[in-house]
Amino acid sequence: LERTFIAIKPDGVQRGLISEIISRFERKGFKLVAIKIVVPSKDFAQKHYHDLKTRPFFDGLCDFLSSGPVVAMVWEGEGVIKYGRKLIGATDPQKSEPGTIRGDLAVVVGRNIIHGSDGPETAKEEVNLWFKPEELV
Ligand code: ATP
Ligand code: MG
Repeated sequence: LERTFIAIKPDGVQRGLISEIISRFERKGFKLVAIKIVVPSKDFAQKHYHDLKTRPFFDGLCDFLSSGPVVAMVWEGEGVIKYGRKLIGATDPQKSEPGTIRGDLAVVVGRNIIHGSDGPETAKEEVNLWFKPEELV
């Protein structure tokens, strides 16, 4: 069954949105197969966002991801990669639809509270980066 990597970023954790976010994935019918809370190092954040290393906001983004606790999760279910992104909403919360996580709960792109893998390849890559095989149910 398909799996995706979802992370509640430091702003989402700090704002007390962990249960709100998990509920939305659970209520949809997706299954949580791994979860842990970690403070990623900056080096780790750079690995996670390596695709974006030429972007002007890369350094700030990696500083931010490593600034506090992150809830790292793996969710499983039919179509979970694509539909998970739908639950999350557009990258810029000013453009995310109401009803989506970012649309309902965030305001600015640099503090958009949640990450979700953007395709099958990155989902595999990110699950393997964040979790050891024995940490997955
Ligand atoms: P994520 O990978 O975090 O799920 P995404 O796939 O919707 O988000 P990406 O293009 O992968 O968007 O960008 C990764 C993250 O970089 C975004 O979630 C956002 O926090 C940050 N970001 C993207 N564009 C900008 C920008 N123009 N200015 C500042 N930060 C940005
Ligand atoms: Mg992305």
